[in-house]
Amino acid sequence: MTESAIIAIDGPAGSGKSSVSKQLARTRGYGYLDTGAAYRALTWRVLQNGADVSDADAVLATASHLGFAISLDPDDYWVAVGGADVTEAIREPRVSAAVSAVARIPEVRVAMNRMFRRYARGSKREAVVMEGRDITTVVAPDAPVRILLTADEAVRAARRSKEVTTQDAAAVAEALRKRDAADSKVVDFLTAADGVTVVDSTDLDFEGTVAAVLAVIDDVLEGRDGR
Ligand code: C5P
Repeated sequence: MTESAIIAIDGPAGSGKSSVSKQLARTRGYGYLDTGAAYRALTWRVLQNGADVSDADAVLATASHLGFAISLDPDDYWVAVGGADVTEAIREPRVSAAVSAVARIPEVRVAMNRMFRRYARGSKREAVVMEGRDITTVVAPDAPVRILLTADEAVRAARRSKEVTTQDAAAVAEALRKRDAADSKVVDFLTAADGVTVVDSTDLDFEGTVAAVLAVIDDVLEGRDGR
């Protein structure tokens, strides 16, 4: 069987990555892998254990028996830890606030990246849309399609604040800014690496963004197939 192609999509928080990637996968019958969910799941477990997210040894010990599982089906998305459904729990603001500390541990990233590649290899679909921060650069630098999805910070904050109902808009904007600042010290997802196509969704609605990304995918795949 031929291996699934990876459609790599990176971008900051609130760029629309997750919803756009899921929709692309749905439209094309591809798999969808939300890599941020894995970092969130580990963070959630560390917090549940009452451990300190900045204690690398405690985080690595937790990671070694996390029992993480994620669905690659865009129509049936779920995330589990030790058999329990954590799809909603990992979106809590306390997890978002702590996840950057976990994601900065190099050994965590190495193990995560291995797991993401394994998931992509094991998918029985033609392609997998893999979204995160370092997919285009570290996890799958050879992917046939590599996209950086961006949007102005104010627009991203506004989008995120529509999703998060437990915090006011100013708190959401501040949390987003802080997380991007912390994350971008570890991986650069604010500038496109060589060969990565930027899609700026600042002035696009959801459908417009999906169409723009699909156009990039089609361009590349058509060129590749010599069509
Ligand atoms: O995409 P999402 O906002 O769910 O990601 C949660 C966190 O996981 C990010 O803030 C970042 O710290 C981490 N992450 C990462 N590398 C990825 C995906 C996510 O470091 N490829």
